[in-house]
Amino acid sequence: MPVVLALAYAAVTLLRVALASLNLRHLGRHARELPPEFEGVTDAATLEQTARYTVERTRLGVFSAVASSLVVLAFVFGGGLSAYDARVGSLTTSFVARGVLFFVGLGVLSSVIGLPLSIYATFVVEARYGFNRTTPKLFFVDWLKGLLLGAVITAALAGGALGLVHAAPTLYWLWAWLFFCGMSVFLILISPVVIEPLFFQFKPLSSEELANDARALAERVGVKLERVLEIDASKRSSHSNAYFTGLGRVKRVVLFDTLLSRMSRSEILAVLAHELGHWKLGHILKRLLVTQAVALLAIYVASRAIAWPGLPALVGQGELSFAARAVVLAFLASIAGFFVTPLSALWSRKHEREADEFARELTGQPRELANALLKLARDNLSNLHPHPLYAAFYYSHPPVIERVRRLRAP
Ligand SMILES: [Zn+2]
Repeated sequence: MPVVLALAYAAVTLLRVALASLNLRHLGRHARELPPEFEGVTDAATLEQTARYTVERTRLGVFSAVASSLVVLAFVFGGGLSAYDARVGSLTTSFVARGVLFFVGLGVLSSVIGLPLSIYATFVVEARYGFNRTTPKLFFVDWLKGLLLGAVITAALAGGALGLVHAAPTLYWLWAWLFFCGMSVFLILISPVVIEPLFFQFKPLSSEELANDARALAERVGVKLERVLEIDASKRSSHSNAYFTGLGRVKRVVLFDTLLSRMSRSEILAVLAHELGHWKLGHILKRLLVTQAVALLAIYVASRAIAWPGLPALVGQGELSFAARAVVLAFLASIAGFFVTPLSALWSRKHEREADEFARELTGQPRELANALLKLARDNLSNLHPHPLYAAFYYSHPPVIERVRRLRAP
């Protein structure tokens, strides 16, 4: 069985590589074609840059996928997991403390292993295309903050859940699920106040006029924009974006300074209208509910499987602690998860199309949203020629040309 599972895991990695290479071959055939939608928006030089950037990013992604798969296979099947588990077990006899140490340690380990690749992506690839703005010092401070934050959150989640396993051995799956639900709501609530300010500086939008227009637009669909903020994203990267946070009717909207500097007022409002669409059409709530329902099912199944004595033998190991057996289950879930990716992406693209339609109705200016999307794609060097299968599998948003065509259609 261990051989079958290792092969299944390797096969998933090979499928990823095959999809990436299919996508690159498709790009190779079409790289020089300027889609008519981009006429006057971008030029041959940018198109060339886009193709090179896509190739480089894809190669990095493939390398990272293959390297991390090898590390995972060696860790799970090669005895690393058992050895690590035993080492952590020698430090404490407490069930909860052992589990917390196990997961926090694993998180730190994977952050450290991933660091060289992250440095390369930021200071070589992103820098080569003019996206990187961060300094080595800022990068390292961010990395350290992320590491500590991750450790604190992991410790809280693992500590709480393992405490419940200890306290209620039969029904813990239900309590643990409720605990995770509560924690995700808690994290969503504190994130804008505690977590995001660790990395970015927020300030009220400098254009009072734009802030008022944004509020008026939101008011029309019953959303109260408590704050309209801009962040200094340009300190780290020149990629641009915008997002909404908050639960319920009171929202904050955050615009990257990089977006503000490149888009017209009506384009920014069109992007906001799209985001408002996600809220108004219940996309955010639906996704949250489905995620929690899947989580409940997963935790229940995991609670049965983790108690099965034959579990460690599936990956060729002997005795494993509760936490290590959870890792074995996560490994198995990652194989199955690959096949869920296209379903999740399909559902997300449906929501994106609906939000685009919503923006069209709300602003009555679909061309403004189309222009905003073209500019975003141009400035972020988004691949304009994804292979249809690749896009169907991974894309959370329909390819930009498809969105623009739909918005420009009467
Ligand atoms: Zn969207």
